[in-house]
Amino acid sequence: MSSLSRRHLFGAAAGVIAAAAAPRVFAQAPAAPAPAPAAAPAPTGPFTLPPLTYPFNALEPHIDAKTMEIHHDRHHAAYVANLNTIAKANPQIGTSAVQDVLGNLNALNDDIKFAVRNNLGGHANHTMFWEIMAPGGGKPEGELQTAIDKDLGGMDKFQTDFNAAGGRQFGSGWVFVTIAKEGKLAIETKPNQDSPIMDGKRVLLGNDVWEHAYYLMYQNRRADYLKAWWNTVNWSKVAERYAAAKAGTLGV
Ligand code: MN
Repeated sequence: MSSLSRRHLFGAAAGVIAAAAAPRVFAQAPAAPAPAPAAAPAPTGPFTLPPLTYPFNALEPHIDAKTMEIHHDRHHAAYVANLNTIAKANPQIGTSAVQDVLGNLNALNDDIKFAVRNNLGGHANHTMFWEIMAPGGGKPEGELQTAIDKDLGGMDKFQTDFNAAGGRQFGSGWVFVTIAKEGKLAIETKPNQDSPIMDGKRVLLGNDVWEHAYYLMYQNRRADYLKAWWNTVNWSKVAERYAAAKAGTLGV
């Protein structure tokens, strides 16, 4: 430690002691700001925020670190916190598989149906989203590449169509590739935090086109974000999801 930083530390410590010992009558200085709250609320269960498996800045320059931090630690964390609040009075929400609840929203009481749709949809969508991104990207191979060629007209057409669909989604929502039981792929958009899982489908991959996903870096240029986002797709993880979906074992 440099003598400068040592002096700084000792000086700071001495200041704390002096402040603690100061008579009340002199304690006129504004109170020190409260420490910033932890970004993610403590897990109270049964829902937990899945940790990112890469640093916030890992997807730069395509997605900036601040966007990733706010998106994961604030937006997704809020859905998780809301779900834990709902689960206190409705424990079955936390003990059932997410895809089972989302696939059967009409079975829920009216007082929680809307909140579960939004927050559990958001939890499922974002859990998928973090998982299918990674620094480095890669490209689809093998069976997945064959399916993209057959069902989506090849990689170039697929990306063009997917970006166009994401651009057309009015307001907040998502653009997905869904996968049917026998493995057929299709592009589909959903508003808000709705998910194709709500229609009994499975999600191969999806991109978040809410403004919170891109606005700090791209402002209103959603098309630029959609184009750049392909650099972040973790194709080996997408291939795992493809195999799991066909085997009937894919969750969210
Ligand atoms: Mn989002």
